[in-house]
Amino acid sequence: DSLAALAARTLEAGTLEGLPDRHWIGGSWQASASGRTMESLDPGSGRAFARFAAGEAADVEAAVAAAEAGFAAWSATAPAERGRVLQRAAQLIRAEADRLAVAESLDCGKPVGEAAGDVRGAARAFEYYAGACDKLQGEQIPLGRDYLAFTTLEPVGVTAHVIPWNYPISTAARGLAPALAAGCSVVAKPAEQTPMTALMLAEILQRAGLPDGACNVVTGTGAAAGAPLVAQPAVRHVTFTGSVATGRTVMAAAARNIASVTLELGGKSPVVVLADCDREAALEGVLGAIWENAGQICSAGSRLVIERSLHDGFLEELVARTRRLSLGHGLRNPQVGPLNSPEQLAKVSGYVEAAKARGCSVATGGNATVDPQSGLGWFFEPTILDRLDPADPCVQEEIFGPVLAVQVAEDAEQALALANGTAFGLVAGIYTGNVDRALALARDLDAGQVYVNEYFAGGIETPFGGNRLSGFGREKGLEGLRAYCKVKSVTARIRAF
Ligand code: NAD
Repeated sequence: DSLAALAARTLEAGTLEGLPDRHWIGGSWQASASGRTMESLDPGSGRAFARFAAGEAADVEAAVAAAEAGFAAWSATAPAERGRVLQRAAQLIRAEADRLAVAESLDCGKPVGEAAGDVRGAARAFEYYAGACDKLQGEQIPLGRDYLAFTTLEPVGVTAHVIPWNYPISTAARGLAPALAAGCSVVAKPAEQTPMTALMLAEILQRAGLPDGACNVVTGTGAAAGAPLVAQPAVRHVTFTGSVATGRTVMAAAARNIASVTLELGGKSPVVVLADCDREAALEGVLGAIWENAGQICSAGSRLVIERSLHDGFLEELVARTRRLSLGHGLRNPQVGPLNSPEQLAKVSGYVEAAKARGCSVATGGNATVDPQSGLGWFFEPTILDRLDPADPCVQEEIFGPVLAVQVAEDAEQALALANGTAFGLVAGIYTGNVDRALALARDLDAGQVYVNEYFAGGIETPFGGNRLSGFGREKGLEGLRAYCKVKSVTARIRAF
């Protein structure tokens, strides 16, 4: 099909024609004020495939000024027309899905089939929020006959969106679509490892009819471009997705301007597998939860919490299936692609080497590797560490790679305690055939989302976000609009004629 053909041509050429190479500011491509650029690397080969603008404070200031002008035009656009623009954006994303997916795969390393799914999800986000534009209704508040009181929802203004490298187009879409639906203007700062699809999305939004400046994208490093963006006084809300450490810095910067923040941070999400589960569904669920995007997912099911009676047979089968997973360059659409960067590979290797040195049981994998076809790239074998202690660093810390930490529980009650036993609270998965256990666990697990009998269940319709160190605020669903709306209450006294 056309996606496979484009992926094959791109792999052969080592790059994709016509990739964006500058910032998108005020409705056009702009070089950095400094003239500096950076290289984009293909994680599957380690080779540079493109250059892009290395943004700094001057570029960020230009983008925020453009966003202020864009806000005036966009917030004055009739809600139904805003909806039509976002709907057209969804259609254009679908029409250009193959190219977007190939660019995403090349930039991130992820299997092109997964990237195509991310692109479909991005289109769906614009479609979903397109329908919300003309339904952002306030309420009438009963104060009796002598008053008329009501609320209106107003856009908060210019919003900043700082995006990580693991899901570039998905994260951009899930933030930009609701912000634009609410009438806000946006400045996005994609990760320096993966700037391409956010830029492509901005240009698509322009063609869909967004006014100049309503959407801007500045590329560059977190220190040079991200930090000045989140510190701009004109930015009224920051949606940050990334690490806990950077989240703290971003929140502190926003606090100086009393700007609100949504923090989507890391996780160490458990998949609780009880002895009464549908074993096949649980096996497939656990595999997908940790090997998708090579485990570089905030919501990855990176811990398996399993009842002892099921452990041995389940693990044996899990190991067998894990060993059969294909590994390779993302554009060949393997089951597992490379890690995104040499730094990420070093981090994952570091965790696994330290675990080996502590004497942890490595059930499978455990080593850095390369693309079997080219001998290149930043790969790590899908790895299972068995029977870990609850205090083990591989249980407590986010590794952000293809490493599954297995914890054994005596029963459902202990499984709950183990599942809740980290500082994170993003996702928890449950596999059980018992309704009472499922509902009791769903009630008691400390996580922003609970998946019952299907990991990664839900979509743009279901709110998503973290508890505790995983952050706060919710994206997706109608909840995702809240961050971009400010409520005004109007109370009028009605005097007698
Ligand atoms: P990171 O925090 O290093 O970088 C994320 C983004 O922040 C990048 O665009 C980076 O350039 C920018 N940045 C860095 N320093 C900055 C600063 N001082 N000011 C402003 N921006 C700055 O995170 P990462 O390692 O690239 O991403 C992986 C992390 O993201 C993991 O912890 C993962 O769990 C998390 N994540 C969370 C979610 C979620 O929805 N909860 C989704 C994806 C990833």
